[in-house]
Amino acid sequence: MKHLSSKYLFLEFMSNTGSRKIGAILSIKKLYIIFIVAFILLGCGTNPLTGQRTMAFIPNSQLFAMSAEAHRDFINENTVVTGTPEAEMLSRVGWRLVEATQKWMAAQGRPNDIADFPWSFTLIQDNTINAWVMPGGKIVFYTGILPLTQNEDGIAVVMGHEIAHAVLNHGQQRMSASLLQQFGLAGLSIFMEGAGSSPELTAVTMTAFGVGSTLLGTLPFSRRNEDEADHLGLILMAIAGYNPYEAVSFWERMNALGGSSPPQWLSTHPSHPHRINNLRQSIPEAKRVAAEFGVHQPRSSH
Ligand SMILES: [Zn+2]
Repeated sequence: MKHLSSKYLFLEFMSNTGSRKIGAILSIKKLYIIFIVAFILLGCGTNPLTGQRTMAFIPNSQLFAMSAEAHRDFINENTVVTGTPEAEMLSRVGWRLVEATQKWMAAQGRPNDIADFPWSFTLIQDNTINAWVMPGGKIVFYTGILPLTQNEDGIAVVMGHEIAHAVLNHGQQRMSASLLQQFGLAGLSIFMEGAGSSPELTAVTMTAFGVGSTLLGTLPFSRRNEDEADHLGLILMAIAGYNPYEAVSFWERMNALGGSSPPQWLSTHPSHPHRINNLRQSIPEAKRVAAEFGVHQPRSSH
């Protein structure tokens, strides 16, 4: 990953703090240590959308570049479905939800936060019941989840959830946590030394973003992140004109899968009854917020 150079990160950091002059008179080594400490301090902030404290060590520009590369690798190694009604539906739902998300962000007073998100919606031919998102909104659905989503509203349930993860910067938190967890401070120094092409870092990137299908290889989003994504996802789908009741139906279908082994992306997730209950309780709020955006009836997609 050639764009993970220390120089690049350094310049970005310095331009953010406006301390170019200080940088010039310090030895590289001292600067390096200061950089790590400052990076950690800067990295622990508050998510403006949730008010929760979060970890964010990696500038989004950097994260998006890593995302794009990991996404490209994944696409090259898997079968992308294009031109089918399902693929077109995925793209249509994705862009409708992005439009709704932009309206919602503007209403939060943060219209520019997602302006540079390189959204994409890809359908992969694979029977795994799975969907995931990379930082910046690169969303992948596997065909295996389509029998469970069943219709356009069902797609919107999963899509809204994934878009919410992206908007709430959960991938950033997971990547930061993953780096600290697996490499400690050394993880951060790998970035700063520009050793980004190491297979270890690529592996962490892929793992942190939930790419791949091995159960043990996937670092879970926290339960809190899952609840946040469920809640915001429901609101976004309602603003986009989809029927929020379908979220309950979708999770009931997932629940009915019952005895068979749980899909990877669910295995670390909140229990189905917990989600169903929370989603059901959030439906009136989702409808009320949608009404504030002029959406009083869900569009019919059946
Ligand atoms: Zn999730």
